[in-house]
Amino acid sequence: MTASVLVLGGGVMGAATALSLAERGARVSLVDQFSPPHAQGSSHGETRAIRMAYFEHPDYVPLLRVAYARWDELAARSGERLFERCGTVVAGAPDSAVVEGVFRAARQHDLVVDDLSASQAARRWPGLVLPADYRVSFEADAGLLYAERCVDVLRRCARDSGAKLIDNVAVAGWVVSEAGVRVAFENRPAVTVDRLVITAGSWTNAALSGAGSAPRLPLRLLRRVMVWLRTGGKHHLSDGFPVFAVHGAEDAFSYGFPGLEPGVMKLARHDGGDEFSTPETRDDAIALGDVERVLAVACPILPGLTRDVVRHEACTYTSTPDGHFVVGRHADSERVVIGAGFSGHGFKLAPAIGQALADLAVDGGTELPIEFLSPARFDGSGP
Ligand SMILES: Cc1cc2nc3c(=O)[nH]c(=O)nc-3n(C[C@H](O)[C@H](O)[C@H](O)COP(=O)(O)OP(=O)(O)OC[C@H]3O[C@@H](n4cnc5c(N)ncnc54)[C@H](O)[C@@H]3O)c2cc1C
Repeated sequence: MTASVLVLGGGVMGAATALSLAERGARVSLVDQFSPPHAQGSSHGETRAIRMAYFEHPDYVPLLRVAYARWDELAARSGERLFERCGTVVAGAPDSAVVEGVFRAARQHDLVVDDLSASQAARRWPGLVLPADYRVSFEADAGLLYAERCVDVLRRCARDSGAKLIDNVAVAGWVVSEAGVRVAFENRPAVTVDRLVITAGSWTNAALSGAGSAPRLPLRLLRRVMVWLRTGGKHHLSDGFPVFAVHGAEDAFSYGFPGLEPGVMKLARHDGGDEFSTPETRDDAIALGDVERVLAVACPILPGLTRDVVRHEACTYTSTPDGHFVVGRHADSERVVIGAGFSGHGFKLAPAIGQALADLAVDGGTELPIEFLSPARFDGSGP
């Protein structure tokens, strides 16, 4: 008898998990309180950066190899363009830990990353003029993913592989018994399944508290604002402009994407951001300060950029204290598996995380190297 699995949360992580589960023959339901892709959580906003030379930690690289292959396979399978290999620049002051992290991951995993000066970079990309002493890395086999399209393709492929997609239904709680996991909904009868996978994004602690005594994870919700600005510079994808991230003074960390429509580019800040308490209380309106924070770093380095805001979107980072993901078994039950705390850098890895969560749910373990992401590191019992 194949296992029945309910995946709670149908953002990019839940969709990728449901696909992996369905492909291995599990009877899987993917339940979301909204109808993804939507703008209430963390998987929206047109684009996401994808790169292999991972400054956050070299241990992600084996997972990135899995994710890269899987995004390419999904693009081929769906006939949709998901991954734009426009390259990625990561630049910073000479002592930037971020730029050093890129080269460390590249050395450790034998990745091709160019080491450029600011003037070499400006010759290559006239739309990017960095301070003269900045060190610049360029990874050609990196770029951007089309966010909503990726979620949509993951969901469609999951459905085509046999997963049941249940939208606009909120999970109200769950309890583990001998017979399985009993899952209650707000507006339909409860069901009992063999396994529950929680991929609830910024709702994770609410989803965990559904079990009564379940421990909470140390997650902070941080508001981020993506801003699309008009530009007269050479910043379009067709200009060969890359995704870029710049780590400047006082840890200011900005990034941006090449324009996908004429004369408009998306920019944002990775550092700072306002903390809020529950997903429903995120302020989605744009404030002058949001734009000023983006412009303070972007204006001096992007010649031709204007202050003219075309549109904006708010989004949520669900962040752990160490900035690394939480992927593993629930402390109290092997029937429940958690994927959470993606800390503003999870999207690109969703196919690998989905595979790991499916392995954990069905087999109780995985060959993917995810030990460093164990939830146990937060309760004192882990490595
Ligand atoms: C501004 C911004 C920029 C980012 N940039 C990058 C980037 O460049 N590269 C990168 O790799 N990552 C990036 N990230 C991070 C990445 O987007 C996230 O890590 C990822 O989208 C998280 O996906 P998720 O599925 O965990 O969460 P979500 O997409 O929020 O999905 C969770 C889902 O669970 C559902 N849910 C919750 N509770 C319930 C319930 N009780 N019942 C039913 N459904 C429920 C919600 O409705 C939601 O759809 C960025 C994030 C933001 C906010």
